Amino acid sequence: MSNDCIFCNILAGGIPAATILENDDILAFLDIGPIVKGHTLVIPKQHVETIHEISTEQLNAVMIGVQQVAAALVKALGAEGVNITQANGAVAGQVVPHLHFHVIPRYADDGHHWNWNAKSYDSPEEMGSVKERIIASMGA
Ligand code: 5GP
Ligand code: ZN
Repeated sequence: MSNDCIFCNILAGGIPAATILENDDILAFLDIGPIVKGHTLVIPKQHVETIHEISTEQLNAVMIGVQQVAAALVKALGAEGVNITQANGAVAGQVVPHLHFHVIPRYADDGHHWNWNAKSYDSPEEMGSVKERIIASMGA
């Protein structure tokens, strides 16, 4: 629990939320500013800021909740697709510093478009160098 964290205050009942799923480890509730109606946030009850701090066991619990919510959005709201997105750090667009997954129902006519600006590597060598650096760090 972090006193100045909005999501910890929702967990403590100090701020109301439209809860759709709760168990010992997680809470899922409607995002107050939905990209598409039904947009849900899934959070761990433990206050951690990013994916780097959560245990694998707690992350498993969050992801099970994400899967349950995604299924419910399809079944209950007739979602034709579902986006799952998550930001770590302000530079990545994280506004609330309590780990959360966005689960967003999608429809052919929902009018939402991601600003997905795909780029390219300068050369195969550059791509290979990036690959090798990432692999090396995981072995450390
Ligand atoms: P982020 O940008 O950190 O990935 O997403 C934070 C999300 O939390 C936003 O989509 C925002 O609408 C949502 N949010 C912020 N404050 C509240 C709140 O008090 N209640 C609910 N239900 N959602 C909130
Ligand atoms: Zn918190």
